[in-house]
Amino acid sequence: MFKRISYRIALQFTAFVLGLFLVNGIIFLAADITNARRQTHFRLSRESFIAIRHIDHPSFPDMHPEDLPMQIRDRVRFIDASGTTLYAGRYFTDVPFSSGQGFSRIRIAEDDMSVLTIPVMVEGKLKAYAQIADMERLRLNDLPLRAFLYLIVSISVSALTFLVGIFFARRSLKPAEEMMMRLEQFTQDASHELRTPLAALNSSLDLALKTGKHQEGLHSAKEDVKDITVLVERLLELARIDKFVLGDEEVDFTALVTDTLEKYRIIAKEKGIAVDAVIANGITVRGDAALLRQVISNLFMNAVKFNKPSGTIKILLTKKELSVVDTGIGISPNDVPNIFNRFFQADTSRAKEGFGLGLALTRRIVELHGWTIRADSVLGKGTTFRIAIQTA
Ligand code: ADP
Repeated sequence: MFKRISYRIALQFTAFVLGLFLVNGIIFLAADITNARRQTHFRLSRESFIAIRHIDHPSFPDMHPEDLPMQIRDRVRFIDASGTTLYAGRYFTDVPFSSGQGFSRIRIAEDDMSVLTIPVMVEGKLKAYAQIADMERLRLNDLPLRAFLYLIVSISVSALTFLVGIFFARRSLKPAEEMMMRLEQFTQDASHELRTPLAALNSSLDLALKTGKHQEGLHSAKEDVKDITVLVERLLELARIDKFVLGDEEVDFTALVTDTLEKYRIIAKEKGIAVDAVIANGITVRGDAALLRQVISNLFMNAVKFNKPSGTIKILLTKKELSVVDTGIGISPNDVPNIFNRFFQADTSRAKEGFGLGLALTRRIVELHGWTIRADSVLGKGTTFRIAIQTA
């Protein structure tokens, strides 16, 4: 689908560029034609004075080419009042004369020429006509060829635009495509995962109806509903993060880690787990405080949840890293690569306590901050999570 959208964007962009080229070509051509004609007329008006001056030449009307300046010699013609040619430059060979004055156009050989005809009056009587011709600098007979070349260039540039357009459209649509894929995956996972607690709820209610032990059944159903609520909440958190709604503020990371730790210290103490923390002072980072708190909570919670009675948790915060080390049940080498996947739970009895979403969420938040997270674990010995942070 995104491929098709990229093509459509590139095509529309190309059509726009081609349109611009054509409009541009037409405007410039029209301007070229008017300009060339105006310049020719201007030149002819100026040169006509030189020609007229030679009507007063002593040799007039018996003129010889040498009597005329080189620059106009080939391009002038003198005709007397009765229409007889007195002198005709090379340009006017075989060009019939029709009386009249001002600018006109003639075709000599393959070229378009502008001709200026001036009647010369002496004492109120028409003495002669002076004509001067010049080629229009813009060769109009080249027009089809020029238009064709222009079209070829326009089409080539447009083809290039199309390719470049596809490249940029694909690149720009990539985040949207990835988001869409994640959402699709999310919807599939979510519906799949919701089925289990809903089935549990259904059987709790069934049992209550069948056995008549309503009180018990309702209690069990309530527990199932609680589970579903937690799952839905986590799913919503995941969906929110997938929409890239990320705050960007300066966060006192030292305080965030210390505060969060205080809560888990109590739970750990209840379970007989010792907590040892070395937290560097004055560490600030840029990001979303609420989401970062969630990352720290998830790691602390797992370190408590998957620990052994009388185990320990070590927390170390430096300028570069936050690490959480526990002496818990550990994760088998086969499972380590999967623990950050959605809904993954290692096959342990305690896994039933969660939904396998915490670490997926953790990794996503860490990556959105431009950080990285890794886990190292030895089954039966303990696990270490390390987040490489970037300070503000
Ligand atoms: P949940 O804890 O809700 O099951 P998580 O995404 O937080 O989901 O963790 C996924 C799985 O990774 C857990 O089910 C557990 O098997 C394993 N795991 C995570 N943290 C630890 C840890 N500190 N020690 C041992 N196993 C862990």
